[in-house]
Amino acid sequence: MFPPVSIVWPCSLSVDEYVALGREVEFPRPDCPSCSVPTSRWSGYQRQVREAGQYSRIWVPRVRCGPCKVTHALLPAFVVAGRLDVAETIGAVIDEVVGRDGGVRPPARRRDVPHTTARGWVRRFVARRAEYAISFAALAIDLGAEVVTELGRASADALTAIRAAWRAVSGLPGWLGCGRWRFVSAVTGGRFVATNTNSPYLIVGKRRFMPPVP
Ligand SMILES: [Zn+2]
Repeated sequence: MFPPVSIVWPCSLSVDEYVALGREVEFPRPDCPSCSVPTSRWSGYQRQVREAGQYSRIWVPRVRCGPCKVTHALLPAFVVAGRLDVAETIGAVIDEVVGRDGGVRPPARRRDVPHTTARGWVRRFVARRAEYAISFAALAIDLGAEVVTELGRASADALTAIRAAWRAVSGLPGWLGCGRWRFVSAVTGGRFVATNTNSPYLIVGKRRFMPPVP
């Protein structure tokens, strides 16, 4: 038996739109990540998210796999596993601090999050930087990106690779509305700043690459 995992689906709704839909939100029903058998709907739970200093309660549906006897939470891509803040907030801080070698306090202040929290995100991301550089480069190439020379450099870093993968995926139907950091959240199972080092590795390859809801 496999442990339950969160599945992140490429949701392009705003947090407000998602909240307004409540339990009526339309979500894809993926196959079981452990055994690939189709899953069925299985209730869900309430969860809080924070965006621009505003707290919202959202409904997170679950699906169940019969053979595995396990339920999986279906997180919309703005949700980051184990974090209150949405993917865009966390990603924007990473872009400013990691991407531009900036300090953590100004972006944290602008987004109304404690700088200690923001520093934690940056540390987690940086700790897995090499892994992301490789994984997202592989994903970019898998998606047909013409970025071989750019990514061929040994110094190509995680953010470069993420941008390349994003450019490739944003040309596919439905993704543009999700934005780059929801995309990152979707393909990492919401764990791009996970504290757990035993977290599942990046989900790459088309087999587990869930298309957005049209
Ligand atoms: Zn299963």
